[in-house]
Amino acid sequence: MKIGFPRALFYFDYFPFWAGFFYHLGIEVETSPPTHRQIMEDGLKKTSDETCLPLKLLAGHIQALKDVDAIFLPRMVSMEENTYNCPKFLGIPESLLSAVPPEIPVLSAVINWRKGQRQVLKDLRVLGMQLGKSGAEIHRAFLEGHEWQQHYQDSRGRKWDFEEKMREIEYVTRQTQKIKPENFSMQVSENHQNCQKDLKITLIGHSYLVQECYANLNLLQRLREHAEVNLIQHVEREDVEAHLSGLRKKLFWSHAKQIYGAGNKFVEDPTIDGIIYLTCFGCGTDSMVQELLAQKVRKHHKPYMVITLDEHTGEAGLVTRLEAFLDMVERRKVREGYVSAYGECLDSHSNTL
Ligand code: SF4
Repeated sequence: MKIGFPRALFYFDYFPFWAGFFYHLGIEVETSPPTHRQIMEDGLKKTSDETCLPLKLLAGHIQALKDVDAIFLPRMVSMEENTYNCPKFLGIPESLLSAVPPEIPVLSAVINWRKGQRQVLKDLRVLGMQLGKSGAEIHRAFLEGHEWQQHYQDSRGRKWDFEEKMREIEYVTRQTQKIKPENFSMQVSENHQNCQKDLKITLIGHSYLVQECYANLNLLQRLREHAEVNLIQHVEREDVEAHLSGLRKKLFWSHAKQIYGAGNKFVEDPTIDGIIYLTCFGCGTDSMVQELLAQKVRKHHKPYMVITLDEHTGEAGLVTRLEAFLDMVERRKVREGYVSAYGECLDSHSNTL
């Protein structure tokens, strides 16, 4: 059996788990190709204008899956205690049904860690029954998937490269002999190394925007040409938790929590020269978290820029803004405490570009 897995949205954070899970059930996983223009256009045709960009891309990737026996669209409700994924994650199997080719069935599974491991296993057994697998086989596959995900998360660090890591995982899933995660090669391509540079910039945003090179017009690579780039995805969970203070209520959404906690850590870090927040049109959680972080950034007088992506974002505009921002950060670094020509007063209210 060959299952189609769209290279979008949940792929960026949770693919290692599902790859390990299906690999140990002896099921082949075929991912859609990296995003290209046709995928984006196909996605736009099947979604409403108000939908956020990652969901539009997901609709395009679903249509790009050919010659598969089923398309896998999980309902990832909650990935840790007391938090939920964004509601758009929850409704994926139904809301994007129109993008699924009529001749291909949809396979789904609920993942709700809020209800504990026992419930997660129970829900996975429902998927197992559809696949003709026993409870014991599902249990073993779950443990293996968990190990793959853990290994993937632990491998994140300054020299970590997402594309490289995903290629490695996809390569392992095509091998017939079983390979344990600790034996996956840990090579880092020279091109992608986060070399030591004078400028230190933090790029904040969902992994499915930051690592989606087509939609973000290669922003990460462009930034790496000029600066050492830190990503919030590299921050350990304990560190995220330690930087969630200052809120009247706990953050409810997993991604919002990660962005706010890790973002806060970088805002407070005096070695970081500037912060870029990458968001997309139509993202509900970002509209709130972006503002909360902007307030913190103002207090710390750090250069800050928000880039909002949608399907119309043009390369020329992005490059101009990026160059202007990096110029400003560099000037500020050379002349410590540099404030723009508008002066202190404006700077204290808004230092966003
Ligand atoms: S968190 Fe934002 S970008 Fe992500 S799925 Fe939800 S609305 Fe879309």
